[in-house]
Amino acid sequence: MASAFKQIFKVDKSNQGTYNKVMAAFHTISAMTQTNDRKSSDVRIYCDNDATDDKPGDGKRWQRAPDVPGSRGCQDPVETLAQTYKYKDRPDEATDQNPDREVITVCDRTFSLPAPALLSAYPEREDFTKDTLVDMDDLLSLTLFHEFCHLTKVINIPGGNEGEPNGWYRVATLDAADAFDAADSFAFLGLSAILNQRNFRIASDDKKAKVGEIEWITPPERPETGGSKSKRFSTFGTSASEKLKHAFSFKTRSRRRAVAFTT
Ligand SMILES: [Zn+2]
Repeated sequence: MASAFKQIFKVDKSNQGTYNKVMAAFHTISAMTQTNDRKSSDVRIYCDNDATDDKPGDGKRWQRAPDVPGSRGCQDPVETLAQTYKYKDRPDEATDQNPDREVITVCDRTFSLPAPALLSAYPEREDFTKDTLVDMDDLLSLTLFHEFCHLTKVINIPGGNEGEPNGWYRVATLDAADAFDAADSFAFLGLSAILNQRNFRIASDDKKAKVGEIEWITPPERPETGGSKSKRFSTFGTSASEKLKHAFSFKTRSRRRAVAFTT
């Protein structure tokens, strides 16, 4: 039985290089502290759909760097869910700014998808065996974890091109070298850990895992088979027809990183 770590990173946890990098990502993210002091913050998260403009001085949050092609963030016609901007790649001319700051924008698109944006939106007793990891591709928590991995101070995962592997189907088929450099690999391991807390895991059968199946770690007692103390596990999962509505899993998505002027 393969662990989630091995299913995602294709190497055993005993591989020190991979294991240490993964642990570094988790530890750095968990050590981040929230502040409302904009100037001192190293990471700023906006949910303003990228208030951008090509022209300076019109009051928008940032102006796009004219010499950086392909950085349209949430304005991009491809299905960008969020984007990380690394200001430090550009000279910092503003004296009242933190020169190390990096900015994550979460696009409106993330909140308008049919599937829940947050894992907490799934009922406490959700039977995830009726869902798949592919159904959760666009979870906001997954997207944020992905973006955090792009941050220089986290693990500085490369990004910013159309070929960046996003979504479970891509993650499941990466080889060890590519998995090691894919932000979504780290994000899905994080999702797996959260599922573990709910008594679920990525299917231990590799074929089932590849299509994103989820299984119980310890199956619940059913009323018809359990004793008098057995609990009823109602399922509030998505019905087959609802799942069809959620069948957006094959579309291409993009959580990209680009260089731009940010404020
Ligand atoms: Zn990315």
